[in-house]
Amino acid sequence: LAQLFRPLDLLGMVYRTIRQGLIDMEAMFALIDTPPEVVDAPQAPPLAIAEARVKFDSVRFAYDPDRPILKGVSFLIPPGKTLAIVGPSGAGKSTIARLLFRFYDVSGGSIQIDGQDIARVTQASLRAAIGIVPQDTVLFNDTIGYNIGYGREGATQAEIEAAARAARIHDFIMALPDGYQSMVGERGLKLSGGEKQRVAIARTLLKDPPILILDEATSALDSRTEAEIQRTLREVSARRTTVIIAHRLSTIVDADEIIVLDQGRVAERGTHGQLLAMGGLYAEMWARQASEREMEEA
Ligand code: ATP
Repeated sequence: LAQLFRPLDLLGMVYRTIRQGLIDMEAMFALIDTPPEVVDAPQAPPLAIAEARVKFDSVRFAYDPDRPILKGVSFLIPPGKTLAIVGPSGAGKSTIARLLFRFYDVSGGSIQIDGQDIARVTQASLRAAIGIVPQDTVLFNDTIGYNIGYGREGATQAEIEAAARAARIHDFIMALPDGYQSMVGERGLKLSGGEKQRVAIARTLLKDPPILILDEATSALDSRTEAEIQRTLREVSARRTTVIIAHRLSTIVDADEIIVLDQGRVAERGTHGQLLAMGGLYAEMWARQASEREMEEA
C-alpha cells in the first residue's frame, strides 16, 4: 500500500512546490523528469534571444546507452517558421521536444538557439523562452483563473482575461456560475479535452514565448472542436518559431517544413506537396490517414 501512495505523495509535493512560488508550468515537468546531470555550467549566461532561430546539428541521443534513439538529426527552423515532425510511434518525436527544453543533454552534436548552444546557457532562461502546449494539460485543484494565470507570475486579472479571450475560452468561463473563480481539476469542474487545451493555450499566450512546442494529442477531438483549436493554434504560432509534433497529417499541411523521423534519422524532409510528390514514407502515411478519414466520414 505504501508503494501505491508514494506517487501520490510525489504529486502532492510537486503541487505544493508550485503553490509555493514555482509558478512556471514547465518547472513541474522539470521536477519529475530532469535527471540530476542536467545542471547549469558554472557562470552560464542567460540565453539572449535575437530572432529565435532554432538549429539541431547532428543531434544524437539515447536514454539508455545501448539503445540510440536519435542517430544524427539535423534541421533548421528560421525565425517565426513552423517545423512539423512526423513519424511512426516511438520514432523519437517527443524526445526532440524534450531535448529542446533540455530535460536531457544530447550525447552528440548540438542544439542552438540564435547561435547559442542551449547546454551553455541557464536552464531558467532557456525555459522562459519556450512555451509548450502539451498533449494532456495538467489542471490544478484551484480556480480556472489560477490555472491560466500561472502561465506568467504576477499576471493581472485583465491579462488573464485577454489571454482567455484569445484562446477563445473566455465566454465559456463567464458562463460558469463562479466565472474565473470556478474550481477545476479532480475536485472541481471536469473540463473536456478541448477546454483543457484552450486553458493550455491561454497559459502559453500569457507566457508569450518566442519559441513554441505544440504536442498534438494522439486521440482526436470531435472534428469541429479540432478545427477550431487548430485555427487558434495557427494564430498563436503565427509569429513564433514553432515545432509541431504531429500525429494527424491533416493538421500540418501548411507547415513550412515537415521532417519524417524513422529509426532515429530524418528519412524525408520537405513541404507537404514535395513529400507527397516524393512518393515515399510520408506519401504512404498520408494515403493511409486519408482512407481512415474517408471511413470516418462515411
Ligand atoms: P509517439 O508518437 O508514440 O508519441 P514518439 O515518436 O514521440 O512516439 P518518443 O516518446 O520520443 O517517441 O520515444 C522514443 C523512444 O524512446 C521510444 O522507444 C520510447 O520507448 C523511448 N523512451 C521515451 N522516454 C524514455 C525514457 N524516459 N526512458 C527510456 N526510454 C524512453
